[in-house]
Amino acid sequence: MRSPLNSLLNLVGETLTRAAGAAEAPQEETCPPGDRRAQAFARLGSLPLDLPTLTDVIVSSVRRLVPCDQVELLLVEDDTFATVEGGPRGRVGEVAALTRAVSRGTAARSRPATRTEHSHFGERVRTVTYVPVGSRGNVAAALALCWRSPRLAAASQLEPVEDYCAAVAPALAAARVHQRALVAEADAMTLVDAVSALARTHTVESVAETTCLYARRVAHSRRARFAVVEGDDLVIVAANPDSRHPAHMNDTSTPLMAEAAETGACVEDATPSRQSLNLPMTLDGAVLGVVQFDFSPGAGGIPERTRSLCEAVVAHAGVALARAHRTNELSYLATTDPLTGLANRRRLDSDLVREISRSDRGGEPLAVAMIDIDHFKAYNDEHGHLEGDLLLATFSRYLGAQVRAMDAVGRYGGEEFLLLLPNTTAREAEAVAVRLLRAWRSDSPATFSVGVAQWDAGESPEALIARADAALYEAKAAGRDRVRVAPGASGESARPDDGAARVVALHDPQRRRGA
Ligand code: GH3
Ligand code: MG
Ligand code: MG
Repeated sequence: MRSPLNSLLNLVGETLTRAAGAAEAPQEETCPPGDRRAQAFARLGSLPLDLPTLTDVIVSSVRRLVPCDQVELLLVEDDTFATVEGGPRGRVGEVAALTRAVSRGTAARSRPATRTEHSHFGERVRTVTYVPVGSRGNVAAALALCWRSPRLAAASQLEPVEDYCAAVAPALAAARVHQRALVAEADAMTLVDAVSALARTHTVESVAETTCLYARRVAHSRRARFAVVEGDDLVIVAANPDSRHPAHMNDTSTPLMAEAAETGACVEDATPSRQSLNLPMTLDGAVLGVVQFDFSPGAGGIPERTRSLCEAVVAHAGVALARAHRTNELSYLATTDPLTGLANRRRLDSDLVREISRSDRGGEPLAVAMIDIDHFKAYNDEHGHLEGDLLLATFSRYLGAQVRAMDAVGRYGGEEFLLLLPNTTAREAEAVAVRLLRAWRSDSPATFSVGVAQWDAGESPEALIARADAALYEAKAAGRDRVRVAPGASGESARPDDGAARVVALHDPQRRRGA
């Protein structure tokens, strides 16, 4: 017999243990069966709403009622079962005894050591008895009572568990509703974060990376990939975790992304080894790209809620992608010369500022070359304006093909072009200009003149361009079809030995003709 004080102390002890989430107090194991039963049922009066905490209470109470080796609370939804946190999960239909318990609403025992039944609980479990929580036709969970020995639970042992399950069912139903509300709220908050993060993206790369990041956070996908349609190709721009290595690009899931891009419809992969959703991003009926959500294969396929979250992320990603494309187009139009396709003056001006500050930081030389086609007005007059345009386009292609990848070339205005030559001295820039002149002369209908200047520390972009212009003017004045190098901004000659004049003079057609 226990005194009322003893019971009260026990109750306080239990409450503290539960609050701390600690394991069961060892001395409780030594309680007589009647007391354990009383303790288990006593807790029914104050069950928590929080699902993980309630699960702990149910499991520890059931362990008091029946001396099995392991107890799991399996939450049942459609044809799947899973524990609250990281425990066994699978399809109800794969476990015969669980199927019986769920469909009949009564306890069902497994035959000893059926592999499919016990692999969920570990190799050492030999028999499992499933006790449904809820009534027939409305079973939302089942307790799995696992034994490591081939023994079966006696009917007398199961009876209190069945009673307990019936009593705890309403609280469990309420906790599951509460849990769903918490999850829905968390999903909604993450989705709001995703939408606002996507709204802050401006480039295709940032849209792709943000989408992949939130594909994992919002939809809990194992891997996400983002591909954009480029002409006839689908190009993977980002992946999370990053797996853009070619070996990953050619895996079996890529054709599913291609299929989604071709059909403009969601393509789902549901093989035993993988599950993925491939959702197209469309604008006015045109497919802009595809997002792939890759999930760990689980029972019951991809849940409807996950599918909706994926669709919401992709809808916003599509809007952000369309905006990034539009921004790209606008910035291309704003910085490109339409006739020649070269950088325009606006772009050259900003490139020059960037290159000057790079030289300023790194101490490398920077040279510019101002190029002007000779007697272009006369060329227009003689051949017509369209031929003039053609010459400008041809000359632009020529310049673009001649310079290094690190150089910038653009149309500065009319028939004037500017080269920005990083890490290049005036002497080296002059050699480049001479090479350009020589190669162009061989089969072209017009010549050009070049003024070269090397940036002087502290010099403004405008002053540098003015010196290159002055050198160009000198080249024109000296007879055109030649290169002149500007003296340094400080007034000293950048090249005391004007070798360029000699080089150019040797190849000057007028000189050769004895002019
Ligand atoms: P110089 O050797 O002194 O540079 O003589 P130039 O005739 O080349 O120079 P000028 O500045 O007198 O004339 C430049 C000409 O370039 C006049 C203008 O009609 C022509 N031009 C400017 N932009 C274009 C264009 O986009 N297309 C065509 N076809 N001509 C253009
Ligand atoms: Mg000109
Ligand atoms: Mg000219």
